[in-house]
Amino acid sequence: MTAAGRADVAIVGGGPAGAVTALLLARAGRDVVLYEQSCYDSLRLGETLPPSVNPLLRKLDLWERFGALQAMPSYQTASAWGAAEPADRSFIFSPHGHGWHVDRARFDAMLVDAAEQAGARVLRGARVVKVSRVDARLHVEADEPVLAATVVDATGRTARIARALGANRVQLDKLVCAARVFAIDSEPRGDTFIEAAPDGWWYASPLPEQRRIIALFTDAHEVVRSRLATVDGWTDALARTEHVGDLACGVPCGKIRVTTSASHELEPPVGHDWIAVGDAAFAVDPLSSGGVDFALRSASAAADVLLGGDRAAYWTQIADEAIEYRRLRAEIYGWEHRFADAAFWSARRLLSGQPFARRAATSRAVGIDGAAPSRSTEQDAAALA
Ligand SMILES: Cc1cc2nc3c(=O)[nH]c(=O)nc-3n(C[C@H](O)[C@H](O)[C@H](O)COP(=O)(O)OP(=O)(O)OC[C@H]3O[C@@H](n4cnc5c(N)ncnc54)[C@H](O)[C@@H]3O)c2cc1C
Repeated sequence: MTAAGRADVAIVGGGPAGAVTALLLARAGRDVVLYEQSCYDSLRLGETLPPSVNPLLRKLDLWERFGALQAMPSYQTASAWGAAEPADRSFIFSPHGHGWHVDRARFDAMLVDAAEQAGARVLRGARVVKVSRVDARLHVEADEPVLAATVVDATGRTARIARALGANRVQLDKLVCAARVFAIDSEPRGDTFIEAAPDGWWYASPLPEQRRIIALFTDAHEVVRSRLATVDGWTDALARTEHVGDLACGVPCGKIRVTTSASHELEPPVGHDWIAVGDAAFAVDPLSSGGVDFALRSASAAADVLLGGDRAAYWTQIADEAIEYRRLRAEIYGWEHRFADAAFWSARRLLSGQPFARRAATSRAVGIDGAAPSRSTEQDAAALA
């Protein structure tokens, strides 16, 4: 076994949230190591960035690097939602200009490169298998292990590290995405198209390099029932759409990709020696295209906490966002009445009022109110799934 090195902060996950946390801590002179299991060499989902990321990227001094990616402008979203006839929503009224369609692998790699150049130690192709408490530090087990004073959980929707350290992931739904990428022979227009359907909703969006992604968001059981992970099942479902099917022209690249898209809130998102950022802390429905925006904002807030800020205020900020998100999510799903009896839509009506309630009890469990953590070291050391 390799002897563990030391670091002020170990960050697990090199998506936007982990990369920007590393960037800000490294700029502040902290000794940071970031573990990312991938090498950014395969498709990453989540390619539409809303206009609100523009001021964030400028504030992070990343605007020039972002410009070098030559992302495609995104001017509007058309949606057949609540009515069969599509309606356009233009970004023309956004104070931040238009949004973007990016190649997410290149976007995420750009952020992590910036962190590395600011002084963070970035380990690519490095999977963390376990985090456990050893005396007053956290032992991060990977090919290059480290003993860190603080660990940042930036593992995305799985929130693996925080859960192993005692946090509770409260899941709002069982949303799953079944996506396919098509190579097309002309540059696609920069519009996103959304179409509500009885079992969920479809999404078509241009990707750089003459590609388009088409995805169905539905509940997990529907993937099994309609064999959505198979080309035949997915193509049959697409054939039942009114509009999106017309956009699925070109040559399919690769398999159908099925991935969880469930919303959740982590209770709590911060402990005395760890903090969760981005999707690990709070994951929203991709319908909002708000995940990357939140990842960047929560990374900035988490870096402030780790540089001496208030942990309780961080939790309050995320909890407040979650309350507003649930309200908005219920409102937007409520706009679609045509499929009110279908299981997908009625499940969303039932879930919209679900409270996140166990705050005080959980805060004691992770010890951020000054109380000692109630979990044993053995529990903390639970292997990460
Ligand atoms: C289908 C789909 C479509 C989406 N569309 C959009 C969109 O259009 N616009 C938008 O803004 N958002 C979208 N989102 C949401 C957006 O992708 C996320 O909110 C965003 O990626 C969150 O960033 P993150 O850094 O928190 O997590 P992630 O981007 O998920 O990054 C987590 C990282 O942790 C790494 N990791 C995990 N476990 C380990 C481990 N044990 N060791 C080392 N590394 C590990 C992973 O490899 C990954 O790189 C979409 C999400 C889904 C599922």
